[in-house]
Amino acid sequence: MGKITSHIYMTNGLRGTGVLSTNIYLLLDTKLTIINTGYKGRVSQICRVVKKLGYSLSDVENIILTHYHIDHTGNLLKLRQLTGANVIAHTDDAPYIEGRLPHPCPKALRQFKFMKCFWSPDPIDVDVKVEDGDILPVLGGIKIIHTPGHTLGSISLYIPQEDALIIGDLVANTYKLSLPSGEFTVNISQEIRLIQKIADMEFNIVCFGHGLPLIKNASDRIEEFSVRLKKYHY
Ligand SMILES: [Zn+2]
Ligand SMILES: [Zn+2]
Repeated sequence: MGKITSHIYMTNGLRGTGVLSTNIYLLLDTKLTIINTGYKGRVSQICRVVKKLGYSLSDVENIILTHYHIDHTGNLLKLRQLTGANVIAHTDDAPYIEGRLPHPCPKALRQFKFMKCFWSPDPIDVDVKVEDGDILPVLGGIKIIHTPGHTLGSISLYIPQEDALIIGDLVANTYKLSLPSGEFTVNISQEIRLIQKIADMEFNIVCFGHGLPLIKNASDRIEEFSVRLKKYHY
């Protein structure tokens, strides 16, 4: 478990995570909010962290999903059953989470049989469907920023009280700042445009779906990355 601020923790510790390891964030308020749930098989780890932070499972009020991919929604069904939390996601990703649209499996992975167990989502209803600009009443107000490109309904979460932005898979920080894999990304040029939009914001901390958070002057780093992207993609 790693502490990012006194109100934001992550399950993996701050030693670093890679593409095959997904970050799960916990927001501590009067109740608890979990952001993303990782690949299947991490329910007991998440429950341990909840208890370690001094909360009970019934204190988990919300589970927010930055997008529908199974490396972020793998433990959603079980966690929802254990906690009774509200499931929150963007309107455009809800059909995939609810099983009304199939999850596209990247071509490159179809030959790997072992991936099939990862690729079997458990459909679940989304209780709160959010849109760009919505504010969730957690930690003084979390602003939803619609950042499509990786998936149609990808969202970033801006938490002014903590000077922090949680951006899911918009950018990864595995070894260095990088774009998400093209295999998993619906529209890479839209993705790059949205990174430029995020780079115009001011925030001190940025938390990724994969890789270490940046905990100081993060918007400057994202800005530099966005300038590099412009150079190579235009
Ligand atoms: Zn993803
Ligand atoms: Zn991911």
